[in-house]
Amino acid sequence: MPHDVCLIRGDGIGPEITAATEKIINAAGVSINWIEVDAGLRCVEAGEPIVPDRTLKKIEEVGVALKAPMTTPIGKGSVSPNVTLRKRLDLYACVRPAKSLPGVPTPFEGLDIVIFRENTEDLYSQIEYMETPTVAMSTKVISDPGTERIARAAFEYARKNRRRAVACVHKANIMKISDGLFLRTFQRVASEYPDVESWDVIVDALCMQLVTKWRNFDVLVLPNLYGDIVSDLAAGMMGGLGVAPGANYGVNCAIFEAVHGSAPKYQGLDKVNPMALLLSGTMMLRHLGEDEAALRIEKAVEATLVKGIKTYDLFGSAKTSEFANAVCAELA
Ligand code: NAD
Repeated sequence: MPHDVCLIRGDGIGPEITAATEKIINAAGVSINWIEVDAGLRCVEAGEPIVPDRTLKKIEEVGVALKAPMTTPIGKGSVSPNVTLRKRLDLYACVRPAKSLPGVPTPFEGLDIVIFRENTEDLYSQIEYMETPTVAMSTKVISDPGTERIARAAFEYARKNRRRAVACVHKANIMKISDGLFLRTFQRVASEYPDVESWDVIVDALCMQLVTKWRNFDVLVLPNLYGDIVSDLAAGMMGGLGVAPGANYGVNCAIFEAVHGSAPKYQGLDKVNPMALLLSGTMMLRHLGEDEAALRIEKAVEATLVKGIKTYDLFGSAKTSEFANAVCAELA
């Protein structure tokens, strides 16, 4: 039985990296019934919302989507398609693994962390106003149920994937009420997982320690804003945006997507790295129970990199399509 998966080809470089990813997943022998759904600039140009209701409905019905990056139109009233998807589908857990890879230049050899970023609360509540003509206010929302579900997702992941420890990242020394609640809720959830080590670290100390003692870190749980910042830090440590995968999980559906955006200046050049979307695709395959195929693709990617077949961002000269063909050849 093929797996049903919704596919958003995206804007800018989206269609090129999607074609490469599709080709490699097919070459791994996984049978997928790709259901193309509309979203992004072409919807806006047709006078529709950037993520039409029919697309949201379809993703909810199917439960799984692979999504290439979309461009956020600049200008008043434009909404981010990504924020729309996260909010409307309640994709509360943004999961971003960051792992050093053979053949990808990085000083952070042995890096292997997994970030669980809470995706719906915190300063992303979009409750902002001018208190007086010269004072702006922004509301940070942290709730016990919102924190409990992201902490639980991290501990469940750690248990299932035999990870050593889960750390809560916070600034409860300063924001004693909001981050204090995040930390207390994390500790309550941690007490239900005595088989997984748990600890906490202040976010600024984490940033310093990540770049000096990165091997000490395993699974991290963060509120939305710290999660956003630390995810990009981790993507850089891993070797850059071209290699950083991600997933957004909700109760009823999951969307797999690269960390990077639509890089419009590279559109149509067959130049960018498809690895970030492809590795998001292997996260998707594991979600679908296709663990063996996911591992085969990851090994084929590593073998390709070790042979020196890399795109420009990794100091190679391979085109997107050449890299994809080389990975397919490893899978044959
Ligand atoms: P970007 O991530 O698209 O690109 C920044 C730079 O990173 C590029 O110029 C390129 O040098 C490098 N890069 C990105 N992806 C790469 C790849 N696969 N291979 C090699 N190099 C790569 O960020 P931006 O230019 O700030 O944003 C462009 C558009 O993307 C904006 O409209 C933004 O809103 C949108 N965006 C979308 C998403 C998403 O859909 N998830 C995420 C971030 C940004």
